[in-house]
Amino acid sequence: MTTIAENLAAIRATIPDGVRLLAVSKTFPAAAIRAAYGEGVRDFGESRIQEAIAKQADLADLTDIQWHFIGHLQSNKAKKALTHFDWIHTCDHLALAQRLDRLTAQLGKSPKILLQVKPCPDPDKYGWPLESLGADLPALAQCQHLNIQGLMTILPLGLTSEEIRQAFQATQTTAAQIHNQFSPALTMTELSMGMSGDYPLAIAAGATMIRIGRGIFGDRPPFSPKT
Ligand SMILES: *Cc1c(COP(=O)(O)O)cnc(C)c1O
Repeated sequence: MTTIAENLAAIRATIPDGVRLLAVSKTFPAAAIRAAYGEGVRDFGESRIQEAIAKQADLADLTDIQWHFIGHLQSNKAKKALTHFDWIHTCDHLALAQRLDRLTAQLGKSPKILLQVKPCPDPDKYGWPLESLGADLPALAQCQHLNIQGLMTILPLGLTSEEIRQAFQATQTTAAQIHNQFSPALTMTELSMGMSGDYPLAIAAGATMIRIGRGIFGDRPPFSPKT
């Protein structure tokens, strides 16, 4: 059995400087996070708010962790997400963005926000289809309190590597176009894409953050809510 340290060393050997490695610790205990932290990881991704808050309490002594929310965000959890996370990767529709904007102003907490997009049709995922994001950009640009930093995507299972490459590339191109048209109101310097199975293709297409779970911590018990 390989250890977290060995897994991390193997992954790090394949990613360039400047690509942020996010360790997706959902379903794994606080002790696993502490082990990865001991190997220098500072960015952790969680997909359930309550589970994350419990681990954050256990790990309160590790004050320089950046917590990333990567699960589906229900509106009634928006306040908790803003309060407990440094990044929210899954802002997936306009009404949620506007709610986060209002709450950001009230709470004085402004984590970095990514817009979740779908470069291929996928009924099992949330997010803007790339072709419908454009219509909402002017309204998103008016969310003045929201610290929007880029796009995030999760691809459907079962694509060929050519389809994966094209989907990541389309996401990168869209981000660049938005940046050109809307910066500084909408900054698009971050691209969160790539997981254990497809991250090399994501990096080749310009990912700035990859989200690795199984590749670091090993297999999870089966669990697949709509994301
Ligand atoms: C679980 C999850 C990951 C990590 O997936 P692995 O296949 O374990 O690397 C990445 N991103 C999101 C949004 C996830 O829910």
